[in-house]
Amino acid sequence: MARLRQTIIRSALESLYFSGAHHMLKPLVGGVGLILTLHHVRPPRPDRFQPNRLLEVTPRFLHGVIELLRSEGIDLVSLDEMHRRLTEGDFARRFVCLTFDDGYRDTLKWAHPILREAEVPFAVYVATSFADRLGELWWLALEAVIAHNERVALTVDGRDRIFDCATVSAKRALYQELYWWLRGLPTEMEMRRVVHDLAAFYQVDIAAFCKDLCMSWEELAELAADPLVTIGAHTVNHPMLAKLTPEAARSEMDLSRSVIEAALDVRPRHLSYPIGDRSSAGPREFKIAAELGFKTAVTTRPGVLFPGHARRLTALPRISLNGEYQRLRYVRVLLSGSATAMWNGFRPQEAA
Ligand SMILES: [Zn+2]
Repeated sequence: MARLRQTIIRSALESLYFSGAHHMLKPLVGGVGLILTLHHVRPPRPDRFQPNRLLEVTPRFLHGVIELLRSEGIDLVSLDEMHRRLTEGDFARRFVCLTFDDGYRDTLKWAHPILREAEVPFAVYVATSFADRLGELWWLALEAVIAHNERVALTVDGRDRIFDCATVSAKRALYQELYWWLRGLPTEMEMRRVVHDLAAFYQVDIAAFCKDLCMSWEELAELAADPLVTIGAHTVNHPMLAKLTPEAARSEMDLSRSVIEAALDVRPRHLSYPIGDRSSAGPREFKIAAELGFKTAVTTRPGVLFPGHARRLTALPRISLNGEYQRLRYVRVLLSGSATAMWNGFRPQEAA
């Protein structure tokens, strides 16, 4: 299913590009600017089973995107500057904000040199448990369990099941099945418990992902020292906030800000909701973020920015630079707003 979905998205992007429709639609759906979402930036890896490849782009692609944005005359701005433009209605020039979620070490190693060289401001949303080495990158633990085994035994909805995953295509299918089943469990705790059990049984060290992939506080301090960098909050434990009690959701957002302030001496004024889709962040979370005084908060709901987003600053859409679609012509389509408008059924996105 995931492959089919990718094929459909790719052909939609291709036809929007080659038909020229993205050009025609841009004045209608292009908005005033947009926020790009990135996770990993690192050289490509040869593994055939990479179910999380959508979360990584190559340094070369990032470089190409920056050159494209510059050649289109788009302003590359910080979150504070985006906030100013939205609240003051300063839409004389189109703008793009670059944001990186989670705080991966490759942001420092691969993305930062490219962005520093090009003098591009960017934001990094830090999940503090990752820097504290206590976080759980559960989607990678699931990937490792499936990658290293030919069969996986698991109790799903009360039934003991054994899944065959000897081939790459079986691994891909199983990852999608289990990932979405886990995402659909009613509570975050239940999901974490299943992943803990799986990781323990198949001897995958969940804690190691933090140490191997995420920046330490020292590395974050190095990044934060660059005036181009905005450090934002991304909760403590990276939960799907909408599945928590209101008190727990509030505390995740508030506490991560205090931990970052204590560690880096900068108080985050911007927030990114973990996972960030409708099942993870909704009106309740948008309200809490506003009450906590965050200037802006971003979702992963796809879309460009319109003037009306000035009234919904804690519910901003973003556009992901998806590792499965690393072509500059796709980025042109995404910048036009036409792809996200189509995916949203051409409904007015200000009402998202
Ligand atoms: Zn995240």
